Amino acid sequence: LILDGKTGEVPAVTLDKLVRVERQALRLSHLISDLLDLSRIESGRMEMRMAPTSIVDVAATRIEDIRTQADDKEIRLTLEAGDDVPDAVADGERIGQVLTNLLSNAVKFTPHGGSVQTRIRREGSLLSVQVVDTGVGIPPEERTRIFEKFHQVSNVHTRQQGGTGLGLAIARSIVDAHGGRIWVDDGSGSGSDFRFVLPLEPSDTPADHVEAEAS
Ligand code: ADP
Repeated sequence: LILDGKTGEVPAVTLDKLVRVERQALRLSHLISDLLDLSRIESGRMEMRMAPTSIVDVAATRIEDIRTQADDKEIRLTLEAGDDVPDAVADGERIGQVLTNLLSNAVKFTPHGGSVQTRIRREGSLLSVQVVDTGVGIPPEERTRIFEKFHQVSNVHTRQQGGTGLGLAIARSIVDAHGGRIWVDDGSGSGSDFRFVLPLEPSDTPADHVEAEAS
């Protein structure tokens, strides 16, 4: 309200301080919602509302949501999806959360003028979603650990970007709850190549099913 000028004119020096207060409040609110998600997951109380869902539509919406952030850095966002991509039985809101996490990380860790590509395709009985960026990349020895709670790569890029180190841990739990799998590829090129797969048909033994097809 104060920033919007609803309480009268604000001197420039106060405005600057208020902008910082707002930024910190948003970070705190983000941290709290990540922590709540994590405790819901750990207590088994994160309910998945499974229904036939177009993951292509979910991705298109999440890409649009991040466009302003990408435009600020002149990062090109693209979505590639075949016409034959079927709906998956999934919780669209939660899978959207996974996509937002991957996309916002990709935009955060990609320098000015780069690109972030999302590719969705069917692979047998799995739906594959890939987010590839032209950013700073992830050292091979960190590629498993970044999915652990609070783990952040210790480098100048991460320090500059802040964050909680919880996003990928939450993403992994959501994908696991769908009987899927998430990982970052060991591609030797620059940038990062994240991928997750979801079974198209719910299965009684999802983990086995996905392990067999994804490896
Ligand atoms: P946060 O982004 O809040 O730090 P995440 O769990 O989403 O937490 O990511 C953990 C860490 O993985 C990040 O701090 C960063 O070091 C690394 N990381 C994630 N995505 C990327 C990416 N696209 N490019 C480079 N590093 C990444």
